Amino acid sequence: MGRIQVLDQNMINMIAAGEVIERPASVVKELMENSIDAGATKIAVSVEDGGRRLIGISDDGCGMDAEDLARAFESHTTSKIRTSADLHGISTLGFRGEALASIASVAQVRAVSRARDSAAANCIEIDCGDKGEVTPCSADFGTTIQVRDIFYKLPARRKFLKTANTEMGHISEQLARVALAKENLDLTLIHNGRELHRLAGGQDLGGRIAELFPMLSLGTSNDLIEASSNEKGLHILALLGKPGVSRTSNRFQYVFLNGRFIRDKFISHAIKEAYRGLLEPGRFPVVFLFIQMPCEDYDVNVHPTKIEVRFYNANLVHSQILAALREKLLGTDLEMPGKLPSAGQPSSAAPRSASVSSQKIADAMAEFFRRHRPVQRQEQIRFRPASPAAASEVPSHKPVLYDSPLGDGLRPKFIQIHDSFIVAQTDDGFVIIDQHALHESILYEDLRKRIQDGKLQSQKLLIPESFEVTPSVSQAFEDNAKLLERMGIELVPFGPRTMAVQAFPTLLSNVQPLDFMQDLMDLLEHADTGPDAAGLLDEVLNMTACKAAIKAGQKLTDSEIEQLLADGRQAESASRCPHGRPTTIKFSITDLEKQFKRT
Ligand code: ADP
Ligand code: MG
Repeated sequence: MGRIQVLDQNMINMIAAGEVIERPASVVKELMENSIDAGATKIAVSVEDGGRRLIGISDDGCGMDAEDLARAFESHTTSKIRTSADLHGISTLGFRGEALASIASVAQVRAVSRARDSAAANCIEIDCGDKGEVTPCSADFGTTIQVRDIFYKLPARRKFLKTANTEMGHISEQLARVALAKENLDLTLIHNGRELHRLAGGQDLGGRIAELFPMLSLGTSNDLIEASSNEKGLHILALLGKPGVSRTSNRFQYVFLNGRFIRDKFISHAIKEAYRGLLEPGRFPVVFLFIQMPCEDYDVNVHPTKIEVRFYNANLVHSQILAALREKLLGTDLEMPGKLPSAGQPSSAAPRSASVSSQKIADAMAEFFRRHRPVQRQEQIRFRPASPAAASEVPSHKPVLYDSPLGDGLRPKFIQIHDSFIVAQTDDGFVIIDQHALHESILYEDLRKRIQDGKLQSQKLLIPESFEVTPSVSQAFEDNAKLLERMGIELVPFGPRTMAVQAFPTLLSNVQPLDFMQDLMDLLEHADTGPDAAGLLDEVLNMTACKAAIKAGQKLTDSEIEQLLADGRQAESASRCPHGRPTTIKFSITDLEKQFKRT
């Protein structure tokens, strides 16, 4: 006798549930998606004990009549697709016809529904696949589904549920995704009778984000930059967190495709690339990205919970997103606001986003000002831009700090401190500039531009400089011949294991060719050679900019400083060095006045 059996329907449903129903939050997700597909404008989610005891979801959607209510809980029943052709271009969130059957196979479910044009409501109960009769009852238009004691007949799965708090965290996350995807939806979330969220439909996106994610401390300042583009059938809207609100994980990267929350490695990569050089290593930007494109241009039928999709033209999606985000980020002033220790408090109260080093600089600056304040004139110091209106307030003896040769009252005044930092006056305060970091970022932008237009200009060396190479380095040079050419580096074989630099980029006139080649060899040899040629070029440019830039500890003349400041103002993204560290920290007069208790 054969050993192979056909499984009964309930077993089939339970197995399907294993894929889509992992925990209470999965139930919340599936039921909310059904409500949205039913055209709901309001969804109320009420749970008890982290969803382990009860998950209740009510909507004001189109509802179901008696016949549909009975059928909805059978497996592979759906109103959203009919033929295989419908699979290409799915515009609803659901289509697999499995969620309700799966949920009803692992819990006690009661559903009440009233179709929009119907005078009466109907009700059905299913206990772990054991289906009751549809009976009439009274209820408002729409649908309410209650799911009790999830997995109660499956102790092994129930055991895997975490504490109510943890499960609630997952449920809140699902609610947040829906809330961001559907701005016009009224949403409430209640846990054990306590309201956790009440979001009014039509609220602006920024407000919703601030309300959903208080831990990002957004809302008070404009920490999110809006980018948008509409090209090649792809509509992109993004709210981009400034580098100051970056995180240690990519948890706050929300990507929505036609109102569906998705995860996609191409898109994550595009986001990462867009922020290249703007964040320190190990930091992840906060990004809310909304993509609209024709449903025919991707396939959602590739993952049981539909969290992944397959783009037919992933390269286009990648490049459009990268371009829109990068352009916006580079065109925005991302300068880091400096934080002075708050008046009257010990400096241990570290600010949220400023790094430890910027805090140190802020402390040092506060100290610097304290020490350099001429004691007898203390009360006369005015940190005001010298405008004609303010002129009468400015004491005739200017503070030492601003006695720079160029301090004519109109141009920014500056001073170099510790041969490493430049303090410069601005209209509304002053900035501290890391001379190496700023110069590096200027050079990097410059190099990028030049290389985009072709190759770097180079110069033949009078005497070629030779160096030894290992076979793997020779190979790396061969593999990257194009890159070397674009950099304006010409190498010639000089002996069995020796090569010589024959031409070198003009821009690197103050860099030792051999020193540069050493670092370049390290980089090329250890680069994971792959399709990411752009990434490698970028690393080479980073390194080049770093080597060619003014060093910390280098004394600069006033005209050199003036040039640096002028170039910095011209550069697109001079607020961060290519490694993502800030180049400039801003302080406002208001902060200073507070610090010195003048206000
Ligand atoms: P799918 O969403 O993939 O179609 P489900 O099992 O989630 O499969 O739901 C089955 C069907 O039940 C849906 O296609 C829809 O017609 C109906 N349905 C489910 N939830 C609701 C609801 N809240 N309001 C109206 N109809 C619903
Ligand atoms: Mg569904």
